[in-house]
Order: sequence, then structure tokens, then C-alpha cells
Amino acid sequence: MNIQEIRAQFPILHQEVNGKPLIYFDNAATTQKPLRVIEALQEYYQLHNANIHRGAHALADRSTGFFEDTRKVVQTFIHANEVEECIFTKGVTEGINLIAQTWGRKNLQAGDEVLITHMEHHSNIVPWQMICAEKGAILKVIPVLPNGELDLNKLDDLFSVRTKMVACVWASNALGTINPIEEIIQKAHAVGAVVLIDGAQAGSHIPINVQQLDIDFLVLSGHKLYGPTGVGVLYGKRALLEKMPPYQGGGEMIKEVSFEGTTYNEIPFKYEAGTPNIGDVIAFKYALEYVNQLGKDNIIAWENQLLNTFTKGVIGLNQTYGEDAIQLIGTAKNKVAVQSFLLKNKHPFDTGMMLDALGIAVRTGHHCTQPLMKRYEIEGTVRASFAFYNTLEEVETLLAALEKMLKRR
Ligand code: PMP
Repeated sequence: MNIQEIRAQFPILHQEVNGKPLIYFDNAATTQKPLRVIEALQEYYQLHNANIHRGAHALADRSTGFFEDTRKVVQTFIHANEVEECIFTKGVTEGINLIAQTWGRKNLQAGDEVLITHMEHHSNIVPWQMICAEKGAILKVIPVLPNGELDLNKLDDLFSVRTKMVACVWASNALGTINPIEEIIQKAHAVGAVVLIDGAQAGSHIPINVQQLDIDFLVLSGHKLYGPTGVGVLYGKRALLEKMPPYQGGGEMIKEVSFEGTTYNEIPFKYEAGTPNIGDVIAFKYALEYVNQLGKDNIIAWENQLLNTFTKGVIGLNQTYGEDAIQLIGTAKNKVAVQSFLLKNKHPFDTGMMLDALGIAVRTGHHCTQPLMKRYEIEGTVRASFAFYNTLEEVETLLAALEKMLKRR
């Protein structure tokens, strides 16, 4: 990959922050957008804007075609069997709430169990707590080992005939851990449970084949995949989606409405009530195509190099400044390019502010994983998360900044 050529496609990266060249290491929160995505948004509003699916005019036809083109690209991107199994949402959060409120409301009963992990984002905890409370179902949690891997030895004890749903993050936004979802899916299916995979952090880093992995539900956010905010994907197996009740009622999701009763539309439209986020869905196609063009294998190889440079650099700093000068949180063997850390005796927010003064954008805090932070007995971390447009020089600049802080103590 030619990183300079890639960076030329991301105009936002070429600016100064606090008088220093911007170094954007907050990619797990949201990724930057390539020019083609930005242009597609402008083109849509300048040339094509119309409501979709029911219009008898040229602009409506064109917009509908572009909107449905994105659905086809999503299908190929995740290797879904059918394009109708790909539903547009506004993001991972909405996708999980949709499943909890539709599949969950229909299928969970008192005493049933929903299994999640200790490293879930709040968006894969709270919707399950809500529906479990309503139904009298029980939320169970797969523990996390000190290095940030799941404690798989506990799996057999946690699965039971009452397990109805396993909702598991593919890659942790706080730790970077890539979870062994194949094993979890097999075990879930063996007891007849359905699996929802939170692909928020996996989408941009890991190749996805929902059929090969036998995933029942997968949720993605466009904005973490170099696309616009406000677009997400919910994949579900046709057999499951057809049996679930709709999420919201309104236009588009119906076949026929009368005051006596309503019949619902086919999937995917049954779950897409109202005017969707047309322009952003259309632009999202170009983000997926950009990732396809670079190739996930090339992306993974480069991001691993960035991550390894950073972790090796920190280990080197610890050799000079003391073993616990910088604590790495999340040292699993199999990781995406996300690294949480803490400087000894320094609040993560202070570290973040000092890095910001040098133009380096990192995230600080609990990363919407408060139960996980509690498990590590910390309030939060500093998190650097890398993308394919980051350079080794940027990683070295971050390491140099951290060294300066250690020297100053
Ligand atoms: N799950 C994970 C692992 C995430 O990283 C995020 C975003 N930080 C979410 C869920 C929620 O995604 P969104 O805010 O796009 O709905």
C-alpha cells in the first residue's frame, strides 16, 4: 500500500492542530472519510436528491437505484446469501436495539438466558438488560482474563439449554481483542441459541463471511468503516428476519394498511420504516469499495505493523523508565490495531490533553465499557487506535511524546 497516496484521499488529515500536524489516532471512535465518499454526498444533494422506492419520476428512480446499489455492495462485503438479508439502520446501536426489541420480545421468556461478554460496549449490554427485565430473562457474562482474552474455560459452564441469545463483540473497542467467534457460534448453536455479533470494530479490520461463520445476526456502523455517520447495517438470516415482528411502524414497512389491520412488507423493507438516510447510504457504497480496493489483507498487515511498533516502543520505554511506567491494557494475542494504556500516576484525561496539545488525537475515558473498566479496577484508559492511513512516523511521534512525559515526572 502506498500510504502517501492513500493519505491524499483523506483531506481532513492535512491540517494543523495546536500548531502541529494532526495525528489522528482515534479511529476506533470514528474513521475519516475518503474524498470519494465526501464527493458522493455532495453529488447526491446537487444532482439526484429524491425520496426513494415509490416515485414515478427520474430522480426518484435514480436515487432508488443508487440506494439499492449500496445494499448489493454490502451483501458482497459481508458475503450474505441474499441482498434482502441486509437492512439499513443508523448504526450498531440501533441494530442491537432492533434485535432485542423484536427477536427478544418475541422469543425470550422468564428464566431464559442471554449470554454476553465482560468486554461488551454499553450498546450490547443495555438493550439486553432492558428486554431481560421486561421478560424476566437472565443476563449472563463470559469473564475476561487479565490479558484481555475471554476466559473460554468458563464457556461450557455458562451455556445451558436456557441460553437463547449470545450477543458478542467480534473485536473489543477498549482492548482490541479479536474474539474467537467461530467457537462461540458453534457452542451457541449446539444448545439452540441464536448469535448476534457486534461488528463495530471488526468491519474495518477483519474479512467478513457471515455464511461461512454461520452468523445469525451481524451489526455494523458505516462511520467506523470510512463511511458517513448515521448509516449502519443489520444482517440477519432470512428465516429469522421473516419470523420477527417489525421494529417501527410507518411508511415503507407495510404492504396494505386499513383501520381493521395492517399487513407488513417483505424484508428488508419490513425493518426500514420511514424515509431512510438516503444520501449517506448512497455515499457509504464508496467507502466499502475503497476498503475492498485496498484489500483487508493489506490493511491488516499495515495496521499490525503500526500496532506492533507502538507496543514494542512502550515496552522499550518501560525498560528505561521502570516496568510499570506505562501499563498496557489489552495484550491479547489476536488483536485489531487498538491499544489502551495508562501512564503511572497520571489520569488518562491529563495524558489525552497533553497529547492534544501536540496535535495527537487519542480517546480517553471508559470507552462505553464501564463494566470492563471496573474489572480492571480503573476509571478509564488512554486509547490509541490506528487506521491504514496512519504512518510509522506518527507512531514514533506518539512514543516520543510519551517519553517526554515520563522524563518530566
Ligand atoms: N460496539 C462497539 C464495539 C463499538 O466500538 C461501538 C462504537 N464505539 C458501538 C458498539 C456503538 O456503535 P455506534 O455508536 O456506531 O452505534
